Amino acid sequence: MALMMSRALEDTICAIATPAGEGGIGIVRISGARALAIASGIVQLRSGRPLGSVVSHTLHLADVRLPSSSATPPAETSAVPPRGGSVFDEALVVFMKGPRSFTGEDTVEIQSHGGWLILSLVCRACLAAGARMAAPGEFTKRAFLNGRLDLSQAEAVLDTIRAKSAASLTVAQRQLRGELAREVDAARNALLRLLAQLEAGIDFVGEEIEILGRQELLRAIQDVATRIRRLGATAREGRWLREGARVVITGRPNVGKSSLLNRLLKEERAIVTAVPGTTRDIIEESISLDGVIIHLVDTAGIRATDDVLEREGIRRSRSAQKDADLQVIVIDGSTALSEDDRGLIEQAAAGKHVIVINKADLPMRVDPSDMKPGAMGLPLSAKTGEGVEALRAAIRSQLVGGGAETTDGIIVTNVRHQAALDQSHGSLVQAEESIRGGMANELVAVDLRAAADALGEITGAITTDEVLEQIFSTFCIGK
Ligand code: GDP
Repeated sequence: MALMMSRALEDTICAIATPAGEGGIGIVRISGARALAIASGIVQLRSGRPLGSVVSHTLHLADVRLPSSSATPPAETSAVPPRGGSVFDEALVVFMKGPRSFTGEDTVEIQSHGGWLILSLVCRACLAAGARMAAPGEFTKRAFLNGRLDLSQAEAVLDTIRAKSAASLTVAQRQLRGELAREVDAARNALLRLLAQLEAGIDFVGEEIEILGRQELLRAIQDVATRIRRLGATAREGRWLREGARVVITGRPNVGKSSLLNRLLKEERAIVTAVPGTTRDIIEESISLDGVIIHLVDTAGIRATDDVLEREGIRRSRSAQKDADLQVIVIDGSTALSEDDRGLIEQAAAGKHVIVINKADLPMRVDPSDMKPGAMGLPLSAKTGEGVEALRAAIRSQLVGGGAETTDGIIVTNVRHQAALDQSHGSLVQAEESIRGGMANELVAVDLRAAADALGEITGAITTDEVLEQIFSTFCIGK
């Protein structure tokens, strides 16, 4: 495994690092031991100096040309391809000497004009000069293999790029700075220390030296288990921050669901999707409210019916409600509470929910404290906007309000990390049971080792080719 990796690392790789399409500039990235030699073959600095002589991390204007030795590029490029040796663009070029680069290797970035033909020609020129096309995520993978990033940081690169809300960006940035890794490492190191003590005890067992008392060991394991459990418990919040939660707005016909959604839409101006719907299509629009995805679900049709289409509508409504992370139940405050209203409130009670008493601008015929024992309705007017801010706050605080306080604001957003934390926690519970059951230290050590290894998978201290392949194949080429 190590051999394969090191051989792959010997190649110098290149890829277009900017998105497809036309742009003012586009960047081709070259990384590896031959980056300088390859780039020198295709760029000529206007200053006349060799690229290798410039100060690292400085920008230089250059002509870009195909290496004179290279064959004419294949005819799939629609324009007449430039001949080998001819200049086809000008660019700013930066050489970043390793290890002070993203990948840790010598890196050159060529910032040419951002046209597809130009960028593919720059790439072709690199290939002709001896580079290899980078695999998806290979730059980030190299950063990991060269010790510039741990695995959780490498994953945070992708989260940063994909962040759709300020909240998810903040979480990704904290992870990129290594905060999650530090927390995980601290727990892992605590376990490794316990293991070392335990193993020392095992070795000395003949001499009956008890290095670590069993009660002390139990307490130490419980401490770590608590830390891991707290961290794992942030995952749901993390997923909501990253992908948005499904908030379903539900209520009888004409209570003002669409009006409320439109009101939120107007303030938010961030339509995520707009699925054109018929009256029987439940999801009409989705918006992002402070990073939380909200879908409108019209539950108008929930009643007994023989109509096939209507039944399908009801089925979808029910399933949307079931899948909801939070329900906003809208009640028309200008009419008395109906059985349907009470039914909706009841079915939502088990999960997270907010009850909104709409049309508060009209004379109220509903008592906000009469929703159900212990629940209050939130008076609101979709018409005037009164109460909307309170609704946003209520949604937000229910979804992403707490949790993170116990972990210093570190939030787990990645399913892989969550699974590893769960696994680690499971092994620690097992270890606790073994101690309580009076099992031999050797057995406890096996569980502690498993718990430490599971944590090591998060940062990549322990990893396999398959795991790396799985992670980096989700990246685009050029990252
Ligand atoms: P939906 O069927 O639940 O989506 O309800 P709509 O949003 O279509 O609203 C039904 C009716 O109630 C419309 O005539 C709206 O103008 C009116 N409406 C909605 N919200 C309010 C409100 O806060 N105050 C008043 N006075 N009327 C409202």
